[in-house]
Amino acid sequence: MKSKISEHESATTKITAKRVVLWTFGGLLALIVFASAGLMLTFTAAKLKTPAVEVGELPPASPPVGMSVSILPTGAYQSRAALAFRGGSWSDIRQFTMTALLVRHPKGNLLIDTGAGRNVDIHVKIMPAMMRATTDYTKAIPAVIQLAAGGISLRDLAAVIPTHAHWDHISGVDDLPGVPVLVTAEGKAFIDSKKEGTEVINSIPNVNYKQYTFDGGPYLGFPRSHDVWGDGSVVIVPAPGHTPDSVVVFVNLPSGTRYAMIGDLTFQLEGLEIPAEKPWMLRHLIGENNEEVHKDIALIRTITQKYPQVHPIPAHDVSAFRSIPVFPASTR
Ligand SMILES: [Zn+2]
Repeated sequence: MKSKISEHESATTKITAKRVVLWTFGGLLALIVFASAGLMLTFTAAKLKTPAVEVGELPPASPPVGMSVSILPTGAYQSRAALAFRGGSWSDIRQFTMTALLVRHPKGNLLIDTGAGRNVDIHVKIMPAMMRATTDYTKAIPAVIQLAAGGISLRDLAAVIPTHAHWDHISGVDDLPGVPVLVTAEGKAFIDSKKEGTEVINSIPNVNYKQYTFDGGPYLGFPRSHDVWGDGSVVIVPAPGHTPDSVVVFVNLPSGTRYAMIGDLTFQLEGLEIPAEKPWMLRHLIGENNEEVHKDIALIRTITQKYPQVHPIPAHDVSAFRSIPVFPASTR
């Protein structure tokens, strides 16, 4: 009798244990399905509601006749529209260009971003594992070599203006020893923080940082500005949304054409045009300041709608660079 009861008890315990395992497994599966569905939802189309902004009058600019711009494409990495902006397609493969912009100016030539340099293979190896694993890049000719072939040596460069210190914008700084790299105190503090994303700039020996301040007044809705040559031709404004050191550089040509080099405020033009923010996962991994990004997207959209002579250039959008000739050709 006793043994029959204990047999029954043991069978009941076995059934209960099985149920617990099944429920746990089922619960975990449901959790994974819900989490995956939730994550996929963060990639779906969602038009960004941007705040209302005022951009004011078009600031005067007196670019000298000798001023011109050229692009120096240095390579690209493969990505997808889905990873660039919400609503982008997974099957829409995009080549994220790494391009430097050369501004030739009688007071001194400037490079806005440098793209991939000679040591880009080493630079990619020191990036965080996750970024390294997902970066599939192809190399073109580094900016320093293109410049030398066109007769521009390091001595002929007054400064590099990085839109921010991520690897794909400053890898080429490694090839430009001694050339001043313009940063603000806030920008330098971000680099010195050694936070994720600053590994490459911090691996480059003896970067010749030259600090500047936003000593100028409001500019097209941005609160402060810095006029590099004092003639309104190259004006930097703070845009600390993508990273704390991010800036927008306005380049104003003698012809009246103006460019807004927006760095990674949006990865592709659609980010501005729709407008749409980057998918949550990307924003989260980068550590973006959403509010600041939304405000700056609103400013750039309003500026380019009100003043069509201003062309926005997201740093990785090949099509945005198409109107600018490849060095040594140039446009004024
Ligand atoms: Zn970036």
